[in-house]
Amino acid sequence: MSRIRSKRNATTELKLLSLFRLARLHGWRRDFPLPGKPDFVFPKAKLAVFVDGCFWHGHGCARNLTPKRNAVPWQKKIAGNRSRDKRMTRQLHALGWNVIRVWECLLAKRPQICVRRIQRALLKSDNRS
Ligand SMILES: [Zn+2]
Repeated sequence: MSRIRSKRNATTELKLLSLFRLARLHGWRRDFPLPGKPDFVFPKAKLAVFVDGCFWHGHGCARNLTPKRNAVPWQKKIAGNRSRDKRMTRQLHALGWNVIRVWECLLAKRPQICVRRIQRALLKSDNRS
């Protein structure tokens, strides 16, 4: 069985990072201490952004190719990730944070949609303050 090294997909995160630069989105931080370790955080806007890998987070899309061997342990792990995602989102909401979860397949295919969602959330928080 080939091991999948990391849950975090550095490539997709870097892609989002370059999209932020293009869209001139500022004020984001990485490694901001919050439940669930969001990939990007906009502290002023209280917005947490997660990039969810389709495999690890169980997206029902073509990218989510569960390995045939050892399928059960993988499924358990993925189910665990999904319930953890929900729990972390709830926790962040309870702390007054807005949460955006971006699927890696959408980021790959329609990056502008992801950026617009984030821009809209940032605008909303501007209007609030
Ligand atoms: Zn997907």
